[in-house]
Amino acid sequence: GQRPAGVLRLDSATPGTYTQDDLRFLDILLDLVATAMTNAKLFARTQQLAMTDGLTGLMLRRPFLEHVTRELTRAGRSREPLSVVMLDVDHFKQYNDTFGHTAGDLILKGVATVLRQAVAPDGLAARYGGEEFVVLLPRVSRPHARQIAEKIREAVGQHVHGSGRVVRQPTTVSLGVATFPEDAQGEFELIRIADGRLYQAKHEGRNRVCASEQAPG
Ligand code: GH3
Ligand code: MG
Ligand code: MG
Repeated sequence: GQRPAGVLRLDSATPGTYTQDDLRFLDILLDLVATAMTNAKLFARTQQLAMTDGLTGLMLRRPFLEHVTRELTRAGRSREPLSVVMLDVDHFKQYNDTFGHTAGDLILKGVATVLRQAVAPDGLAARYGGEEFVVLLPRVSRPHARQIAEKIREAVGQHVHGSGRVVRQPTTVSLGVATFPEDAQGEFELIRIADGRLYQAKHEGRNRVCASEQAPG
């Protein structure tokens, strides 16, 4: 192509080791190598793009679920807990209707930034759906996951502000927590339970974390 894909250096202690034929051979060979390298890089880049949400830069649902499957196998083997936190932005439709879709997108980006910081370095955050996010926390027990979820809720409230010029509207989120192995064994069940608790958090008034079926006492 137009740009160098790499450099190959050949040395010999003996003068005159290489012939013009060797050079021609290398020229042909390295043309093929360069094409293969460029294709491999493009493939990796395409794969990365296919896994990533364009707006937030977070992982998408499908690759996230594959990741959960792998982590569950590992957690089962090492007998360590694994927690999942589902998050949904409160009254987001109303926000979009008031301030516009572009302003709404900025909120989603802000939530993604908070999530990335909150789960680093071991956790993984993903965009599960439109304004729903999910976090995977390896080696994190349910009480600890609840604390992390609570921190996320507070951080979103502090750092993600509505973009209305007149009304500075705080963003609130509702979260549901579920933990392997006590809540569920499989990835879909785990997420279903976290989702159920998220909806319980909505039902109880939003802007809160729900980590069990009982109402918080
Ligand atoms: P609740 O507190 O019950 O979650 O209310 P809600 O309005 O957030 O929930 P609902 O499911 O009714 O609305 C979700 C809204 O999220 C609908 C849609 O306008 C918005 N939404 C989904 N994806 C995007 C997106 O990519 N960008 C923007 N700006 N809005 C989105
Ligand atoms: Mg929703
Ligand atoms: Mg919502």
